[in-house]
Amino acid sequence: MSVPQKVPFLDLKAINLQQEAALQQAFARVLNSGWYILGSEVAQFEAAFAAYCGSSNAIGVANGLDAIFLLLKAYGIGPGDEVIVPSNTYIATWLAVSHCGATPVPVEPVESTYNLDPALIEAAITPRTRAIIAVHLYGQPADMAGINAVAQRHGLKVIEDAAQAHGARANGVRTGHLGDGAAFSFYPGKNLGALGDGGAITTDDADTAHALRVLRNYGSQQKYRNERQGYNSRLDELQAALLSVKLTTLDQFNQQRGAIAAIYQKELADVPGLVLPQVPDWADPVWHVYAVRHPQRDRLAEQLAERGIGTIVHYPVAPHLQPAYAELGLKEGRFPISEAIHREVLSLPMGPTMTADDAAQVVEAVHAILR
Ligand SMILES: *Cc1c(COP(=O)(O)O)cnc(C)c1O
Repeated sequence: MSVPQKVPFLDLKAINLQQEAALQQAFARVLNSGWYILGSEVAQFEAAFAAYCGSSNAIGVANGLDAIFLLLKAYGIGPGDEVIVPSNTYIATWLAVSHCGATPVPVEPVESTYNLDPALIEAAITPRTRAIIAVHLYGQPADMAGINAVAQRHGLKVIEDAAQAHGARANGVRTGHLGDGAAFSFYPGKNLGALGDGGAITTDDADTAHALRVLRNYGSQQKYRNERQGYNSRLDELQAALLSVKLTTLDQFNQQRGAIAAIYQKELADVPGLVLPQVPDWADPVWHVYAVRHPQRDRLAEQLAERGIGTIVHYPVAPHLQPAYAELGLKEGRFPISEAIHREVLSLPMGPTMTADDAAQVVEAVHAILR
């Protein structure tokens, strides 16, 4: 389609150019250091990110999927174990469990928040259950008070998949400090994004942090002495240096996302058939995406595209209906809340460089289509 884009879904280049000079400087610093893997840049970023999250430790790894996977490994989760996952999430949450040899056990979300429903977890727990992974989907924190209470009753670990929620808060506490351990992704499009792949784990537990430092680096802390059969999953010096720059503007960028979300919440409130995000009073979301629901989602997306408005579906197919998970035998109709969300959800343009005028153009287009 050759319609000129008026408001792109996300303008990554514009976001990164906001800090062009500082990013160039960070690049030059790493280039000239002559040290490119596990050095002072990673150590500095880890310290800064741990402090930002209010956690005692941050461990940089290669990506968000590895962050979840390595945390599960550090907890000793493997074949024969079950891990509760949201039925409604990006498939990476499930893959991390499968890669350990454990089985993902899906639980439905609260329909109004899209996040794991604590009231439904207990029915999915078996003697094999070891952990719950809560995803803060779309940048809105999951109901961690409810989830932690269930986990405590059953002696389960609680893992946050915080890949979409850097800086979000629940009851004033930042993601990364709401469970036993948290996994973050620094994929370029995330709220805190590198210029390539990256990830991190935060945890207050010193033994878990030690295990993760060993696991990410061939099972070794001291060169050529291998304590465990580890992996190669390291955040590199260059991405760490770039992330240190970007961390300084994370709060400001999140606020700018919040301002765009506020315009949408106000101006789209009365559009017939359109369901807007609902934010519990204890939650402070960071609007990784602004997802609306509409029964004619595909038609809405097409007509927005015709008017130059970029949208994305997060996500079109639920993990249990992906060919990759045919082995679990979870047929269509098994997770109706999640399936309905996947059919109807649509993410509107959102980002820290969007202007009020951009948001007004989106609002105007939605009104024109759904009037
Ligand atoms: C992006 C994402 C991941 C995976 O992160 P990568 O860095 O791409 O591996 C995991 N979970 C969720 C919810 C995500 O959005």
